[in-house]
Amino acid sequence: MTTTAMRSHRCGDLRTEHAGQRVRLCGWVARRREHGEALAFVDLRDTSGVVQCVLNDGVDVRGEWVVQIEGTVRLRPEGTANPDLATGAVEVADCSVEVLNRAEPPPFPVDDRTDSDESIRLRYRYVDLRRPRLQSNLRRRAAVFAAMRAAMVRQGFVEIETPLLWTPTPEGAREFAVPSRLHRGDFYVLPQSPQIAKQLLMVAGFDRYFQIARCLRDEDLRADRQFEFTQLDVEMSFASADDVQAAVTEAVVDATEAATGERPAMVERLTWQQAMDRFGTDKPDLRFALELVDLTPLFAGTEVRAFAAPCVRALTVPGGASFGRNRLDGLVERAKTLGAKGLAWFKVNADEDGGEAKRLDSPLDKFLSDEERAGLLQRSGAAVGDLLLVVADEWRTACTVLGALRLELGRMPVGEGPRRFCWVTEFPMFEGLDEQGHPVAAHHPFTMPHPDDLPRLRSDPLAVRSQAYDLVLNGWELGSGSVRIHREDIQRQVFDALGITSEEAEARFGFLLSAFRYGAPPHAGFAVGVDRLVAILCGEENIREVIAFPKTQSGTDLMTGAPSALAPGALRELGLRTVPRD
Ligand code: ASP
Repeated sequence: MTTTAMRSHRCGDLRTEHAGQRVRLCGWVARRREHGEALAFVDLRDTSGVVQCVLNDGVDVRGEWVVQIEGTVRLRPEGTANPDLATGAVEVADCSVEVLNRAEPPPFPVDDRTDSDESIRLRYRYVDLRRPRLQSNLRRRAAVFAAMRAAMVRQGFVEIETPLLWTPTPEGAREFAVPSRLHRGDFYVLPQSPQIAKQLLMVAGFDRYFQIARCLRDEDLRADRQFEFTQLDVEMSFASADDVQAAVTEAVVDATEAATGERPAMVERLTWQQAMDRFGTDKPDLRFALELVDLTPLFAGTEVRAFAAPCVRALTVPGGASFGRNRLDGLVERAKTLGAKGLAWFKVNADEDGGEAKRLDSPLDKFLSDEERAGLLQRSGAAVGDLLLVVADEWRTACTVLGALRLELGRMPVGEGPRRFCWVTEFPMFEGLDEQGHPVAAHHPFTMPHPDDLPRLRSDPLAVRSQAYDLVLNGWELGSGSVRIHREDIQRQVFDALGITSEEAEARFGFLLSAFRYGAPPHAGFAVGVDRLVAILCGEENIREVIAFPKTQSGTDLMTGAPSALAPGALRELGLRTVPRD
């Protein structure tokens, strides 16, 4: 499969069993070392790896030149094998070399050990991508796509493409606009996801749809977010949330196995409420325990002013009793930055008279009643040597502040530990109010509210539960989905709650509301963020490392120079005029 007209083998595939064979290889000169005895060692690299070739030192080949080498594979002399290299037991000798193309010296060493300036790497991305780490990342990415596609097809899903030139939709992100040449002054919008299109495919009777879809959102870039990203996008008719989750789980577990060789253990489930209560976040990293403990009942009616709050929660930090004052002050400051009024700490030490008894060391200890002291130790389960962190506040603040501290104290690098997938279900429908006092959809406005909560849409929107769910892996949100609204009257009610008037709804989403009048089946779906999944499977902290041509943090492409000005003629044709920059 790997033989072509120009080569018989790939560099990285040569092993001891090839000894004695004449081979023809093509690739890049990875390294050249003069050896004496009029010889030079050249490591030849292609996509499969490197192999050492022994050349006459008169042959002029240099770093990153493209060459074809014909030679004979032989075992390396006794004591010179390199066990760290897959081809390290052999070398290619008696070589004839043809230079296929010379190269300028590379802008940085093409080597995984060096940490070159990222802006130079991105400017010369085609050189950067030669590095084994990126070669391996993009191959894993391809393995993930292949496994996902196979799993979806096997489960009876039909792959359907949806338009890139689309229309604005209220999914929550800022959109990219594309000016129309034929309809001057009008714009297409690039899809932030195929959300509405896939719902229309359900109305169209396609039952089980999937697509490996590009999505575009004009939002600030972060380690886990680019303007363009890829989703495994899924929608099913006559299906429950559980059906969707089962289908997606199969695809994701298969993809993980394809990329890493290991099938992940069971996928866990938490409701949103449980995730918030126990981990202080809706995307819990389950690789380490450190669960939050509820102390609200213990401190109901307390005399301790700092603990007189609607919610009191604690986090036990194993071994934290040894933290010095600076570190503790740092944690208090951090909690305040995260929005808490304060953070109380208690060191759990052994009582002076020995034995099992524990003592709390803290400026607050003298204010605690005996019952509170005993309750604190008992409910937290803290052992001698541990540190207890306590936040008393509104429920959400107490949970999220301790959740953030939990993550910082327990932080594990992306690639470490087991892969703990988790479904988080029963999200609230709205996550707060915007400046005009309208609720903001926690997922998107096509999400079906919990049937029991429909009457509260207007009167108490923040108490409305939704039928939305997320998939989380090791603290990263991999994707979201929901049971959808399939009835026009409910969709109108939700638009109304969001402050979208019926005229506006008709003008912007009339096509969707109209579709709902033509026989829309109950349906549900999901989308998995493939860039994030692949990054975690590759142990990369930044999704740029698993995308061939990513943008920088400020949204530029350092290689092509995009975004850049259009030629005046092109602007005229589009009916556009630009205003000078500020
Ligand atoms: N369209 C949603 C998103 O991009 C996913 C879904 O609900 O299927 O997050």
